[in-house]
Amino acid sequence: MNVHEYQAKELLKAHGIAVPEGHAALSVEEAVAAAKKLPGPLYVVKAQIHAGGRGKGKFKELPEDAKGGVRLAKSLEEVESHAREMLGNTLVTVQTGAEGKQVNRLYVTDGVDIAKEYYFSLLVDRASGRVAMVASTEGGMDIEAVAHDTPEKITTITIDPAQGFMPHHARALAFGLKLEGDLNKQAQRLAKQLYDAFMATDAAMLEINPLVETEDDKLTVLDAKMSFDSNALFRHKDIAEMRDETEEDPSEVEASEYDLAYIKLDGNIGCMVNGAGLAMATMDIIKLNGAFPANFLDVGGGATTEKVTAAFKIILKDPAVEGILVNIFGGIMKCDVIANGIVQAAKDVNLQVPLVVRLEGTNVEAGKEILDNSGLAIVSADDLGDAARKIVAEVKQAA
Ligand code: GDP
Ligand code: MG
Repeated sequence: MNVHEYQAKELLKAHGIAVPEGHAALSVEEAVAAAKKLPGPLYVVKAQIHAGGRGKGKFKELPEDAKGGVRLAKSLEEVESHAREMLGNTLVTVQTGAEGKQVNRLYVTDGVDIAKEYYFSLLVDRASGRVAMVASTEGGMDIEAVAHDTPEKITTITIDPAQGFMPHHARALAFGLKLEGDLNKQAQRLAKQLYDAFMATDAAMLEINPLVETEDDKLTVLDAKMSFDSNALFRHKDIAEMRDETEEDPSEVEASEYDLAYIKLDGNIGCMVNGAGLAMATMDIIKLNGAFPANFLDVGGGATTEKVTAAFKIILKDPAVEGILVNIFGGIMKCDVIANGIVQAAKDVNLQVPLVVRLEGTNVEAGKEILDNSGLAIVSADDLGDAARKIVAEVKQAA
């Protein structure tokens, strides 16, 4: 789960990390009121969307030469005009895709005088099975580009979970940032604090880009991006409450309400499968037959008729779907329950696209009977390969 910059900074602040003072705002009036609480004379008005690259982003509704989604302001009037231009408009950045994201919230912060920008992040590194701390002297820019063009400017330190964060990790980090004197000490302290905050919140990623050295020699967190392990959210009610569903794909939000693992993809064949491995194999075999899956969907082990119906409706909400492949192995889940769900959902939504069903496992005979007697044009398949061939052929024929 992702959160906004202002929420990430609130969490960091709660863990004792200094961040520039700031307040979130949902309207132009709130933005001005937020600025009034700050010392001034420099303010920053920042669009809050779940995507980076806001500073260099462009608003769809504004002229090409208009400023981006992170703007400096030297007066309350300027804060007001920036807020007016940004709120409700669509910001397109390198991370939003061409459609961009509507800006519904702003964060108004105390402006910082920057001497130098650095990069810092913590993430769970699958390759090493450890938390990796990544830092670079090249802050404020696209870290992927830095990693590609000048990999020697990136320092990566992995932390053994059994040992935890040690002073030598902090020293290696400060050395990697080429910091000396008091700034070096500040970096060591900050690295430890950020690591502790990362662990305490069950974060999956924490990125400070840029981490800045101010004109008066303080290391400051200027931007913050955090995401959290969804499986650990049950023990962080405060973080779970930060979820902003307007930033997520509506179908994925609905799926999560039914405890369905759904991820929207670009193809035209909707998939309903139980088990993540089987779901991936199903997607592969669709591709092998020359078509593309419209989604990943794992209905899980203990699905009910209600859940299957919901899954079916979510798949069909995607206008790109031209056919559906149901591939269920009834182990814990029973084939007749699935069959009932499919029939009910197909009737509920007045199904217009071809549907191929492959059922195998517990109560498979009862399941097939329900499908056969449903009066619906359901094509039944015998195995995975057969199912994929049939749905691809059906979709081609219907086109
Ligand atoms: P991003 O573009 O979404 O990554 O948003 P950031 O919060 O990283 O801001 C983008 C850039 O705006 C930073 O790299 C800074 O150069 C600039 N910026 C942000 N806050 C301040 C500030 O307080 N003072 C100054 N002078 N520049 C800022
Ligand atoms: Mg940034």
